[in-house]
This record gives sequence, C-alpha cells and structure tokens, in this order.
Amino acid sequence: MATVDLTVRGAGVIGLSVAWACLRRGARVRVIDPAGIAAGASGGLVGALAPHTPDRWNEKKAFQLESLLMARGFWSEVAEVSGLPTGYAPTGRLQPLADDRAVALAREREADARANWGEAANWRVVAANDLDPGAHEAPWLPPSPTGMLVHDTLSALLHPRQATRALAGAVRALGGEVITGVDAASEAAPNPPEVWATGAEGIEALNRELAEQGRRSAGAGVKGQAMLLDLDRAGRPQLFVDGMHLIPHLDGTLAIGSTTERYYEEATGTDAQLDELLSRAVAAMPELDGVSVLDRWAGVRPRARSRAPMMGAHPLRKGITLANGGFKIGFGMAPLMGEVIADLVLEGRDRIPPGFRVEDNL
Ligand SMILES: Cc1cc2nc3c(=O)[nH]c(=O)nc-3n(C[C@H](O)[C@H](O)[C@H](O)COP(=O)(O)OP(=O)(O)OC[C@H]3O[C@@H](n4cnc5c(N)ncnc54)[C@H](O)[C@@H]3O)c2cc1C
Repeated sequence: MATVDLTVRGAGVIGLSVAWACLRRGARVRVIDPAGIAAGASGGLVGALAPHTPDRWNEKKAFQLESLLMARGFWSEVAEVSGLPTGYAPTGRLQPLADDRAVALAREREADARANWGEAANWRVVAANDLDPGAHEAPWLPPSPTGMLVHDTLSALLHPRQATRALAGAVRALGGEVITGVDAASEAAPNPPEVWATGAEGIEALNRELAEQGRRSAGAGVKGQAMLLDLDRAGRPQLFVDGMHLIPHLDGTLAIGSTTERYYEEATGTDAQLDELLSRAVAAMPELDGVSVLDRWAGVRPRARSRAPMMGAHPLRKGITLANGGFKIGFGMAPLMGEVIADLVLEGRDRIPPGFRVEDNL
C-alpha cells in the first residue's frame, strides 16, 4: 500500500467530494470502493441541484445555500481538471402554481428569498405569458392553472453519472488513488484515519453495530426510481411539477424523478411505480406523451434519522469519520460536505452545523 494521509471508503459523490477537498489541500488520499465508482445512489439519472423554499430559514437551508452557491465553481473546476463533462448547468427552475393560495404564498417567499439568499439568486412569481420562449424555441412551459409560476435562479442541474465519473477523474488527476473491484476488497481492514462515505449500506452497517449494543438505528435507506427520456430541452430550466423533477440534461436527454419508497424488496429493480411516475409526468407536461424511454434506474438514498446530512466521528470506532445522510439532496450538499469533512480530518476544525452531527441521529 502506498503511503496515504487519508483513506476514504465509498466512491459516491460524497466520498469523492471529500477526497477532492482533501487533495486540493495537499493531502495524499485514496478512495476505496469494491463496487466501483458511483455504484450506489450517485450513479443515477436525475441531478437536480435545487433549494428548499427560502422561508422558515434554518441551519439546513443555510448550509444548502452555501453548497449550491459553491456548485458552479466546484463542477467547473472538476470538469477542467478531469477533462470530462459533468452536465452542470445553472439554468434555474420553474414551478407552476396550482391556485390563488399557492400564488400568495409564493409571493411572500419573494421577500424571504431577498432576505435569506441576498443578491446571490432570486425567487420570483412570474406570469406564464412572460416566459413564452417565442416561435424559434421548442416549448417548455408546464401548464399552470393560475397562469403563474415560480422561477428561481438558484437551481442548477448536473448529470449524476457524468459528474461522478468526472469527479473520480479529477481525484486521480490530482494524484489521488481510486481503488475498486478485487483490489478494493483486499483493503477491507480499516487503517485510520478513514472517512466512511458508504451511503445507505454504511447506515445499515452502523445500525447493525448499534443494535448489538441495544441502541436504536441511525437512519435507513429510502429507495427511489427514475427514468431518462429522449427529449432535448438542453439549456432550459428544470421543472418541479406535482412533486416530480423534470431535468433537461445538456446531452439532450430528459430525466424524470423520483419515487420515494421506504419499504422495498429489491434495491435496484424498477417496476410499475416508475410507469405511474411517467403517467403523472405526461399528465403534468403533455408534450412528454409518446417520447421514447432511454433508461430506467433505481437506487437507495442514504437517509439519516434527522433527514439532514450526518457528519462526524463514528460513535463506536476510533479514527473513523462518517460523511453520510445526503438523502434526496446529496449532489447539492456534496461541495460543502467535502470541505467541512476536510476541515475536520485534516485541520481538526469542527464546523459541522448543529443538527448535522452523528450524535443527532443516535
Ligand atoms: C432516484 C434518486 C433520485 C435522486 N435525485 C437527486 C437529485 O435530483 N439531486 C440530488 O442532490 N440528489 C438526488 N438523489 C440523492 C443522491 O443520489 C444521494 O444523496 C447521493 O448520491 C448520496 O451519495 P453518497 O456518496 O453518500 O452515497 P452513494 O452514492 O450510495 O455511495 C456510497 C458508496 O459506498 C460504497 N460502499 C458501501 N459500503 C462500502 C464499504 N464497506 N467500503 C467501501 N465502499 C463501500 C458503495 O458501493 C457506494 O458506491 C437521488 C437519489 C435517488 C435514489
């Protein structure tokens, strides 16, 4: 084994972001994942980097804002260093407003966005007519019963598979090792200091160790299914309609996500729930009717008990730091989670926000 300062277990977006942050500070890092790069939740199709609403401000929203604002620089540097596309595009988001109450609430949030997002981005209620792209562009407006929509400029998107491949390439370009397959399996024994960014499997493994001590579980996996359609709306805003994300990727495909399944038998299989998602998407956006399906995919999101990211010392193992709990917004949180973990493991500086600590889930 080459001499390293840090071993990261898990080559999903969180583990790779931790490795990237540490390498940029000059540390020698290796990432180990027997299943391969983005073999877990990070190998998906959707890639919405979208904020929670700007009202009722809290630590989680502040952390998310900081991370989303980091995303543009983060992913452009990853693309530059790796020479690979990430699919990142700061193209904003549109959400139709169903009734007058929704319009009034969305208008109140304009002021919340000014107060909490500052100059960085805006959240505005707009009339559909004002968004008409004109005859030269393909239409991309979800029907809105009120004729009004929210347009926010903080939302961006990326292509999860491309982005994680590029991030692994960038890690390697900075001298980091990414060890997968049988080579990874032979490195099973922990060699602290280590960061475990092992996703839903990692939460289950932690639960088993906690259960041996009669302690409650720290979280659970939540399955999600998504699909990719052959529809080119590259450069247009993502849509959030009827609880679904419609993501126009730069490569000319369109992702639709996702189901939320707390109980499931098969982690990676897709089924009728995904067909139902497509039917709902067609109902919300009739131009999707008859478009070819290119891919169907399922993964298990790592959800900590608190539903927030879970970072800090492993409760039972010395020298192990956990970076987990990305749940539904792991890609959005990854740039800042990487930096916060690098601060902790390389500099002993703990700036994990309240509510994001491992202890909050025990
Ligand atoms: C359908 C779906 C849609 C989603 N949509 C979005 C979205 O639009 N925007 C967004 O931000 N997020 C989204 N997410 C969530 C996002 O994908 C996750 O939050 C994120 O991928 C979690 O990253 P991770 O690195 O923590 O976990 P993972 O990507 O699961 O990575 C964990 C890795 O650890 C490895 N591993 C496990 N055990 C070990 C071990 N003992 N040793 C070494 N390696 C190990 C696994 O092989 C895996 O590669 C979605 C998720 C799903 C399922």
